[in-house]
Amino acid sequence: MKTTGDQFLVKKINKSIVLDTIREHSPISRAAVSKMTGLNKGTVSSLVQELIDNGLILEIGTGKSSGGRKPVMLLFHETAGYAIGVELGVSSIRTILTNLNGDMIEEDQRPLDTTDQDQVIERLFSAIQAMIERTPSSRYGIVGIGIGVPGIVDEKGQILFAPNLDWEHVDLHTLVSEQFGLPVTIDNEANAGAVGELQYGAGRSASNIVYISVSEGIGTGIMIGGELFRGAAGLSGEMGHMTIEANGRKCRCGNKGCWELYASASAHPNFDFKTLLRMASDGDADGIRGFYEIGEYLGIGISTIINTFNPELIIIGNQISRAERYITSAIQQTVASRSLSYHRKHTTIRFAQLETRSTLLGAAYYAISGFFSKDRATLV
Ligand SMILES: [Zn+2]
Repeated sequence: MKTTGDQFLVKKINKSIVLDTIREHSPISRAAVSKMTGLNKGTVSSLVQELIDNGLILEIGTGKSSGGRKPVMLLFHETAGYAIGVELGVSSIRTILTNLNGDMIEEDQRPLDTTDQDQVIERLFSAIQAMIERTPSSRYGIVGIGIGVPGIVDEKGQILFAPNLDWEHVDLHTLVSEQFGLPVTIDNEANAGAVGELQYGAGRSASNIVYISVSEGIGTGIMIGGELFRGAAGLSGEMGHMTIEANGRKCRCGNKGCWELYASASAHPNFDFKTLLRMASDGDADGIRGFYEIGEYLGIGISTIINTFNPELIIIGNQISRAERYITSAIQQTVASRSLSYHRKHTTIRFAQLETRSTLLGAAYYAISGFFSKDRATLV
């Protein structure tokens, strides 16, 4: 019996390798899959047939032949299922629908004018439900829901603390799974953003990345060797609450002088972000100076990140990307004067390639990768 169990496991792993190869290199021939994976042609053929029967692979026309019979090409069936990505923000709920390749099919945004837990959750449910109703029919339907939240999330998907929503101990994972009966992943929005940029955006060629999500607050997603660094209890990355002014303003987290009070999109003492953007685009001196100061404070924190992690890439994302042109020079100048030169030399600072959708696409990726993980029944 032991042998059977092992064979079953080996087959599952091989099937997963074949599927991943086709997903990454589609369209591809069976012979090329065999060459790339090192699996013999017979094994590849029988696994491919099962994947075709599972509806995850399609056969199309003929590829280029190197002489002899033209091979049939294999395509990943990206619309065999769909994923929902959600960003629960402080002032909005955003949702997207993607296919299994992570291509966005639908998008929606709803303003949020309350932080009352019951009301927010009711609106979250209704935003997800609306996206479910817009999903085209497919073999696997919606394979999962990923949600990025502005707070500290433990491994079980419980929000332990979300200072900007004023929430503590909300078991969002259970609430959403019970409501929709689908696999759910909850993560901090900056972690999800880092994953989004690594999979689909500016971070695709890098493996040591710090993604800085700057909106009402600041969160960071730290990628070391291509993996999220989560810390002992999954709580790492709360750099928005590192002290930047020893006797600074009081923060909702209990500390004072936190980085996000000076460097976030809502850091200006007199103007909100939208107003500041309008002022700066009109050439108003206060607007331009306001962003310059935010940029300087961002640069101070980024210098510490560069000195600490020696990352190859820092990606600045979320709302603040809309102010890129007004803050870039302040960030660059501050980092040039404050970070250690040896560290700085190896670090590139960029804005998110997915603009304000890094978290949404990262959240959808959680759902997709869960569907394709080796323990899923689909691969049996
Ligand atoms: Zn704080």
